[in-house]
Amino acid sequence: PYSGPDPEVSDAARVLQRVFGYPSFREGQQEIIDHVVAGGDALVLMPTGGGKSLCYQIPALVRPGTGVVVSPLIALMQDQVDALTALGVRAGFLNSTQEPDERARMEEAFVAGELDLLYLAPERLRSEQTLRLLGNGKISLFAIDEAHCVAQWGHDFRPDYLALSTLHERWPDVPRIALTATATPATHAEIAARLNLGEARHFVASFDRPNIQYRIVPKNEPRRQLLELLRTEHPGDSGIVYCLSRASVEKTAEFLVQQGFTALPYHAGLDAPTRAANQARFLREDGVVMVATIAFGMGIDKPDVRFVAHLDLPKSIEGYYQETGRAGRDGLPSTAWLAYGLQDVVQQRRMIDTSEGDDAHRRRLAAHLDAMLALCETVECRRTGLLAYFGQRGDACGNCDTCLTPPEAWDGTIAAQKLLSAVFRLQRERRQKFGAGQIIDILLGRSTPKVLQHGHDSLTVFGIGTELSEGEWRAVVRQLLAQGLLTVEGDYGTLVLTEASGEVLGRRRQVPLRRDPARAARAAKPAKA
Ligand code: ADP
Ligand code: ZN
Repeated sequence: PYSGPDPEVSDAARVLQRVFGYPSFREGQQEIIDHVVAGGDALVLMPTGGGKSLCYQIPALVRPGTGVVVSPLIALMQDQVDALTALGVRAGFLNSTQEPDERARMEEAFVAGELDLLYLAPERLRSEQTLRLLGNGKISLFAIDEAHCVAQWGHDFRPDYLALSTLHERWPDVPRIALTATATPATHAEIAARLNLGEARHFVASFDRPNIQYRIVPKNEPRRQLLELLRTEHPGDSGIVYCLSRASVEKTAEFLVQQGFTALPYHAGLDAPTRAANQARFLREDGVVMVATIAFGMGIDKPDVRFVAHLDLPKSIEGYYQETGRAGRDGLPSTAWLAYGLQDVVQQRRMIDTSEGDDAHRRRLAAHLDAMLALCETVECRRTGLLAYFGQRGDACGNCDTCLTPPEAWDGTIAAQKLLSAVFRLQRERRQKFGAGQIIDILLGRSTPKVLQHGHDSLTVFGIGTELSEGEWRAVVRQLLAQGLLTVEGDYGTLVLTEASGEVLGRRRQVPLRRDPARAARAAKPAKA
């Protein structure tokens, strides 16, 4: 029973305790909430699981009127509203999945001032009808969730989000709070500009997730590697396995089921009831492994995901951070494990080359991929690298794979010169395009049919690289790609020199490399988290 306000406790703190049942704010929440309650605009950058929702839900409850929440996650609106209703909060949503009479009921409740929170899909706000409706009620604030959707590089909801900049013109006195878990300093600036948030205060929470152990390994036999991870470190745990394609999702899920795991597939090609059923099982049951494309996970709130495994290279550090961030939201030790290989790089470059959009767009995608590659091939702490990417500083974590088994550095200058000369020789044969496999066969002096067919056994570089194994040469190729000393093009992953390659070939540049991390990992496996 409510016994009247306690003068020592702010309205916000009272709502936190009475409505949400939490004793105290998490880092950052109080400041943000106070600012928005006072009517200020805010741009909030907080990692997944940080507690962004309360940052607008509490001000919506404290300020008079209805808080209007723009969210692209239509599938989750019902869940969010149900959860709020269970707490006694008057919440509703308007989206395209709704029956007309249900929608009418919601609209009436809003106009009558009977809602604390109203969730809307972004495309709703492009309709004059919705804007008129909003004009007929009282709005306490606008919350723009997943605000990175407004940013330039590839998001499906972008046009809808761009239209949100007009909210400010129509409702200049209503505070706006934009929230995202994914943003580099450049992206913050872009969000602020596009959403007309020039006056907004920026709140940037730490992106550090100390309970997550980051590990990145070279991919040789991905399924066997995954199986070993699951069996030795995560038996019976809930987790997510991300794959690039729907086909590999299906195959991997089948494989895990055969191996005795409760594994379910999730991708956009499955029908909606199947997706919903699989998601519900993952959320409710213990020990389910969700094998999914990146279509899965946005907005999922499952605290005890113990591992996130990537069987393919993510397209960007933003994506990698967001996906791995779904592990360990309860703060307990969790694993973020990624296996990647040369083939991933070839495939992603091909996808970039054939992607829609202009050259500037392709260059942006390529830059994102390069940053991801550099993280994979770093000799430094993974966590420090991640944080640095988001413009934050951190000390070596002592818990990631490179901290636990520091990769040995070696002088790869001569190896790089050999490899680049081989690429140079083949590049001169204009009509033929050759990938890493052929180059490595030549360096190793292997007289394969393809080598003989093209007369590559008579090249001066034939057999000059026998001091390294095939796996080591692959590692050299990956690292040269990561260092921008080589690039890949076209359908077959043709290796091509870059401008910087000339500095190596001209002996003006040293090439430090890391020792094949697979060997290091075999030598000393990180302790169980
Ligand atoms: P985000 O949107 O940033 O990913 P959520 O808002 O979904 O995160 O919050 C993640 C989880 O943390 C939720 O289960 C939420 O109830 C919980 N949470 C948020 N703030 C607090 C708090 N002050 N005390 C305890 N739990 C909190
Ligand atoms: Zn580290």
